[in-house]
Amino acid sequence: MTLANCKKCGKLFMKKNRDICDSCYDAQNKLAEEICNYVVSLNTDNISMVDIIKKFNINSKEFETLFNNAKFVQISDILTIKCIRCGNEFKPGRKTGFICDSCLKKLKL
Ligand SMILES: [Zn+2]
Ligand SMILES: [Zn+2]
Repeated sequence: MTLANCKKCGKLFMKKNRDICDSCYDAQNKLAEEICNYVVSLNTDNISMVDIIKKFNINSKEFETLFNNAKFVQISDILTIKCIRCGNEFKPGRKTGFICDSCLKKLKL
């Protein structure tokens, strides 16, 4: 066991297998659950991450973290995310990361 500073709140905590403390982790799970419940309750077949960010007053980094931690698997089919390079909106599908296909292609060149 090692002590580390929480990536989110900066508090010192016992580092296990994540880089945020237990209370931040709980808060993160709760937020993800609320977002999923909200999206499901809308009964829509398309929602943009921009709408979610506005609605829940979070920043895109927080959204990205949740997404990358597979918190949005339940809603990933209806989710549209914004490419961090060109700003185009696209469907992430099962992909992780916030870069659209055309930017990804450019990166690989
Ligand atoms: Zn924390
Ligand atoms: Zn792009």
